Amino acid sequence: EKPELSYKQTLQMRRSYLGKSVKLHFDVKPVKLVRGSRQYLYDDSGNEYLDCISNVSHVGHCHPHVVHAGQEQMAKLTTCSGFLNEKMVDYCKRIIATLPDKLCVCYFLNSGSEANDMALRLARAFTGHDDVICLDNAYHGNIEQLLEVSPSRWKKCGIIKKDWVHTVPCPDTYRGKYREDSQNPGLLYANEVKDAINKAIANGRNIAAFLSETVISSSGYINPPDKYFKHAYRHVREAGGLCIADEVQVGMGRTGEHFWSFQNFDVIPDIVTVGKPLGNGHPMALVITTKEIADSVCEYSNSFGGNPVACAVGIAVLDVIKNEQMLSSAKSVGKCLLDGFRAILPNHPMMGDVRGIGLAIGVEIVMDKESRKPAKEAAEILAYKMKEKKIIISNEGPDKNVMCLIPPMCFTCENARRVVQAMDIALSDIEKGASEVGLTTATGSSTDQCEVVPLNILSADTSQLSDSDDEPNVKRVRYDDVD
Ligand code: PMP
Repeated sequence: EKPELSYKQTLQMRRSYLGKSVKLHFDVKPVKLVRGSRQYLYDDSGNEYLDCISNVSHVGHCHPHVVHAGQEQMAKLTTCSGFLNEKMVDYCKRIIATLPDKLCVCYFLNSGSEANDMALRLARAFTGHDDVICLDNAYHGNIEQLLEVSPSRWKKCGIIKKDWVHTVPCPDTYRGKYREDSQNPGLLYANEVKDAINKAIANGRNIAAFLSETVISSSGYINPPDKYFKHAYRHVREAGGLCIADEVQVGMGRTGEHFWSFQNFDVIPDIVTVGKPLGNGHPMALVITTKEIADSVCEYSNSFGGNPVACAVGIAVLDVIKNEQMLSSAKSVGKCLLDGFRAILPNHPMMGDVRGIGLAIGVEIVMDKESRKPAKEAAEILAYKMKEKKIIISNEGPDKNVMCLIPPMCFTCENARRVVQAMDIALSDIEKGASEVGLTTATGSSTDQCEVVPLNILSADTSQLSDSDDEPNVKRVRYDDVD
């Protein structure tokens, strides 16, 4: 199907109609997407890209079971959350079943930012305190008060730290304050939380919440050291604060072993927030908390949150995660990725660290292994070189030098091998200084089509898509029905 607008028109119109600050993947020759399926994206020339970054399309782009559920409910009824609605309570029952018993009450919202905003409101109402502790490179959303607890945006947005915000070091044992050679880094990083609390109290302040991810995406998928969260949560609770786990990026089975990321660290937060993966691209978000905390705020309404279409979509996403065994797949495919990257790490002077859990993986690109100095430019060139090989990956983290992989959960070991092999070749080129990536325009004035490097595109692996424990009378649409 031919797009109505040319590539050039689309790019020019985007540049004139959207704010400059709206981030576009690839300033130079951005990809114009027209279609997505499973872990693949297709551009307007029919090129297929392997997608390593769309964590929003959690169970696969346009998963037909999810699309069907949304379409069916949209044709039947959608209302605001003020009416009784079966889909909503059914959805709550199902999502609560994935959580520890005490987390049993839901608030519906439409974005991760809204969820974190609500979580802070609940924490303040419940504790009667004001202050929030966050990690020093956190990102928690684009609502004003969340930017205040998102130090990763402070410099760019000219935000000056407010008195009610307290930052603590990210528990990063590769690049952080305490490294892999420290004895008990988990305890040392948790003591930083204790110190921050003590300082706040000494200044007459009180802690309402410690807001953090448990696998820290904003710092490039940092997997915190043993016992960090156990001790940090204890310190926060002793000060009368609540612990909020932001599962916007790493929840819903992404870490493989468990449905929620915090479960990897043997802690139970007081409030969980989640957005992105819940609706597989349909905007929906949740705050899940205890009954006592949930009851602490005054009247709450949200026009779109929990509407029947969102809930139908959410139920379908949960179906797919279960039926396609996506947790065990994330675990084994994540291991393929980690093993693959670790196998090539010794050959690459610029590959500093490989880390992650499940399908949340970071690869640090550094100037050299001794200094660990972040190699931002090389990481950026690497992302472009991977794009030439029809693999979409991005360089993120505080220094933009971490290649991040957070693909749709239907990613396969075959995909993993392809990514590792492509990165092996591309990074070798960069290391040899023989890199010719054709980045001739600095800030994207180019309007040409993306260059095409012929590649043998691997056919999609459908082994993850089989229905193993079909329930009777459950109508389920598969990719094969629509392809
Ligand atoms: N928390 C984390 C960890 C995130 O990564 C994001 C979005 N990137 C948000 C919150 C905000 O979510 P949203 O963009 O849906 O508002």
